[in-house]
Amino acid sequence: MKTIDNFNFAGKKVLVRVDFNVPLDDQFKITDDTRIRAALPTIHKILNDKGAVILMSHLGRPKDGPSEKYSLKHLVTPLSALLQKPVQFANDCIGEQAMKAAIGLKAGEVLLLENLRFHKEEEKGDPDFAKKLSQLVNNDNKGNGFYVNDAFGTAHRAHASTAIIARFFPEAKCFGYVMSSELTNADRVIKNAVKPFTAILGGAKVSDKIVILEQLIGKADNIIIGGGMAFTFIRAQGGHIGSSLLENERLDNALKIIREAKEKGVKLFLPVDAVIADKFSNEASRKTVAADAIPEGWMGLDIGEASQKEFAGVIAASKTILWNGPMGVFEMDHFESGTKAVALALAEATKKGAYSLIGGGDSVAAINKFGLASSVSYVSTGGGALLEYFESGTLPGIEAINFS
Ligand code: AMP
Repeated sequence: MKTIDNFNFAGKKVLVRVDFNVPLDDQFKITDDTRIRAALPTIHKILNDKGAVILMSHLGRPKDGPSEKYSLKHLVTPLSALLQKPVQFANDCIGEQAMKAAIGLKAGEVLLLENLRFHKEEEKGDPDFAKKLSQLVNNDNKGNGFYVNDAFGTAHRAHASTAIIARFFPEAKCFGYVMSSELTNADRVIKNAVKPFTAILGGAKVSDKIVILEQLIGKADNIIIGGGMAFTFIRAQGGHIGSSLLENERLDNALKIIREAKEKGVKLFLPVDAVIADKFSNEASRKTVAADAIPEGWMGLDIGEASQKEFAGVIAASKTILWNGPMGVFEMDHFESGTKAVALALAEATKKGAYSLIGGGDSVAAINKFGLASSVSYVSTGGGALLEYFESGTLPGIEAINFS
């Protein structure tokens, strides 16, 4: 792996693709700066080496060009506070002003470019646009330009700034610290898992997780399925699920997964009981019933206590644990207990020496809600990217650094 520690950036102009796609409130204040904090070690390494840093990122999904809502200018002050140094800003990521600012940037200085997705060429992976970005640092014929990809969250996209751009830096490119630690941690689960290896999948949709489930059947010893997606599996086996979440068109996939797990000796665990509600609300009437005997008009919104106990037992006996997706509607306090039980079991197993990785937006939100993020081995910043890495063993952003 070409990581940042293999290079010295003295006198270099370094174009760093970061993932500053942070949530902003109505006043454009950042509500969670985790992604900015994650990029700081990479920025500091380049600055400490006496290089100059040009940061580029997307923010949100702007549809029609520049807009106040998606401007990265809102990040200048908070980033400057975190770095404890001034941060310059270019009102566009390419063009005259950006070029002027890039050329004038000195060692130890930081320039943030405006949202890459204000140009539709970014998501199209347009080579001309990628070249224009590269020219911000490749402009003096002295070979001082360098490209660092530290945006794991978008490494599964072959966009101009995440993949295509790498071809303009034949020798001068590498991964930043976020990318390298994400990959090292993902590999501990998917390539070198110490057994027994347990994967826990939850959340709303089976369709999002079919491919990863099929992959895991070849690798995991135990697969635990909870959350809304479990009801499609329960229904597929003839259970009564009331008005719980159901993906009718996935019933066959569910049966195939159950069959393949059996053939390959993988233990598949589904909830045996469910906390059901008479409406989708925290204030709903609720009771616990067998997960395959949910009355009409009721829906399963969490796993019950018996399932929690069973899942916790499997987790406790594991040496490697992967968790993606909540066990229930954890955002509502009355339906959080299954997700919390799994989070606590993970923390307990980690304390006893197991390796635990959490990935995917909602399980990360859940572990944060319960204040247990520091009690597991690693919390990934990339939801879709992590799953795709598990599915295919590589990502466009990785290939671009390693092979272009
Ligand atoms: P996903 O993005 O597919 O991982 O789904 C995460 C979402 O699934 C969370 O917002 C949960 O509230 C929701 N969820 C989990 N379990 C259930 C359930 N039993 N019924 C409805 N939604 C659920």
